[in-house]
Amino acid sequence: MELTIKRAEKLKSKPDDANLGFGTLFTDHMFNMDYDTEKGWHSPRIEPYAHFEMDPATMFLHYGQAVFEGLKAYRTESGNIQLFRPQENIKRLNRSCRRLCIPEVDEDFALDAMKQLIALEQDWVPSAPETSLYIRPNIIAMDPFLGVRSSYTYRFYIILSPVGVYYPEGFNPVKILVTSDYVRAVRGGVGEAKTPANYAASLLAGEEAHKAGYTQVLWLDGVEQKYLEEVGSMNIFFVIDDEIITPELNGSILPGITRKSVLELAKHWGEKASERQISIDELMNAHASGKLKEVFGAGTAAVISPVGQIKYGDKVITIADNQVGPVAKKYYKAITDIQYGKAEDPMGWIVPVS
Ligand SMILES: *Cc1c(COP(=O)(O)O)cnc(C)c1O
Repeated sequence: MELTIKRAEKLKSKPDDANLGFGTLFTDHMFNMDYDTEKGWHSPRIEPYAHFEMDPATMFLHYGQAVFEGLKAYRTESGNIQLFRPQENIKRLNRSCRRLCIPEVDEDFALDAMKQLIALEQDWVPSAPETSLYIRPNIIAMDPFLGVRSSYTYRFYIILSPVGVYYPEGFNPVKILVTSDYVRAVRGGVGEAKTPANYAASLLAGEEAHKAGYTQVLWLDGVEQKYLEEVGSMNIFFVIDDEIITPELNGSILPGITRKSVLELAKHWGEKASERQISIDELMNAHASGKLKEVFGAGTAAVISPVGQIKYGDKVITIADNQVGPVAKKYYKAITDIQYGKAEDPMGWIVPVS
């Protein structure tokens, strides 16, 4: 397959690096590729960023047959641009595709297309501290049809957005609310796929948490509402005594690449890290006995996000004096130093773009 490139005639003006929000600005170009049953994936092209025109009956608008990814391109101090474990994102994209009955993409081709798009948009990769170019690949079902089945046609596209910090709090502890009123996902459902339905399922709980003064929801398992799962757009880690614990992947938790990186770094450093079931009761007891040292979220958007407060029922616990703990700090620094090329890459995680 040959990738064609059509350049935009007029370029947008670039934003000020220092005041980037998250996900509001988009670059001049995008990648598009189509699928039908006859030709398979075909017509890969980089072209000017533009609106889609689509039939109001387009299937993904009705039944949510879609998958997406989220990763970032980083500018190093020497001005180069690099990606962090992009192969993992593309592999996960294909795993999500399998769950949503979407045809898989060629992984090498997708990575190459992504790199070419970023190379074309290199002036959009910001250089202020903690900024990056967010990359959003998406695959959507395109048949104009109201019956329920998987679509015969799809669009795979990639858009790019220069971003600053995800949380307005920055690298400061966030407050999270454990909900018993709603569940995000159940085993056998789509919780481990990166698909819009999981976000749709999480919105109401998220809004109620916001109203109560909390940044995010900490989800319990969908069966017994007893075991900790994740934080909606981040995986979750607990430091109890000297052990770093994250819930094991059970089918309803999204297998985060930041999560995986924390676990692999812990192993590399010879630290005690476990993937295991952990209940909300164990967490509350660990806090009561003074053993709960830290809690932090892990995800591409915020990398590591320390948690300063957790509310469960009518109990509110404060963790690490609502300060950033040493473990969160250490993993944040190690991962971001690799991402921004400030440190060696002992794990082979970096893929250069230019
Ligand atoms: C994307 C995502 C994460 C984090 O995954 P990363 O690969 O680390 O960015 C965690 N939970 C959910 C629900 C997600 O969609």
